[in-house]
Amino acid sequence: MAGLPSKHVYEELKALHVTELHHANSVATSCLFLREKSLLSRGTVERSGLKQTPQKSDSQDRVYSIWYDVFMDTVDIHNRASRYNEYGPVTFVFDVDLIPKTNTGKIWVTKCNPMYWAGKSEGNRWFQNKHELSEEFIKGDFGQMLVFRHCGGELPFGRFLTRIVLDDPKLRNEDGVDLYSMAYGGLRAAMSESGLNIPIERRDCSLRCKCRKGYKDDENRTYQMFDPFL
Ligand SMILES: [Zn+2]
Repeated sequence: MAGLPSKHVYEELKALHVTELHHANSVATSCLFLREKSLLSRGTVERSGLKQTPQKSDSQDRVYSIWYDVFMDTVDIHNRASRYNEYGPVTFVFDVDLIPKTNTGKIWVTKCNPMYWAGKSEGNRWFQNKHELSEEFIKGDFGQMLVFRHCGGELPFGRFLTRIVLDDPKLRNEDGVDLYSMAYGGLRAAMSESGLNIPIERRDCSLRCKCRKGYKDDENRTYQMFDPFL
């Protein structure tokens, strides 16, 4: 079994000075999370009959039975890679103390992104123990993701969601509505439904960031990712 005691994962993150955890998603799915005050697995959302934005990884996630898992990154992928995050333009930022202060249970840690799992053994897919984690876990390696499996597909984030970073593609939809403003309004409305008031920051990209070009090159996908009512 590759589930690691959350205490071990937390200690390793602290040793590497990781202070924040990240989760990126579409605007519509993020609105759902804000209304529920929880991160939900893809499978949990589907089972409850709620709508979510399709992700490229969906069919592969089912194959590897991670459909009911909740994923988090230890790094902001958009910043790190200077491109948009495939999973969506909204990044939830959590205080790493979410791990010891909420009942997360064991945590699984991937060694690489499941898209590269074909032909790999369990031992090359998941960190197996604390020793491996302290030897091989690298801050900033975004293939190494934290997976919350035994939370019933639902991870309440309580007061540990500290801020939301929203991309600004500088694009308008067919009706001339600015996508950033539309997304911002949707997220605010979802928060007001559940009584949350989390700051939303406009993402500050480096000059070399390729996100805007990426968003422009695939406008239909971009509309889908930014639409709160999808
Ligand atoms: Zn960018």
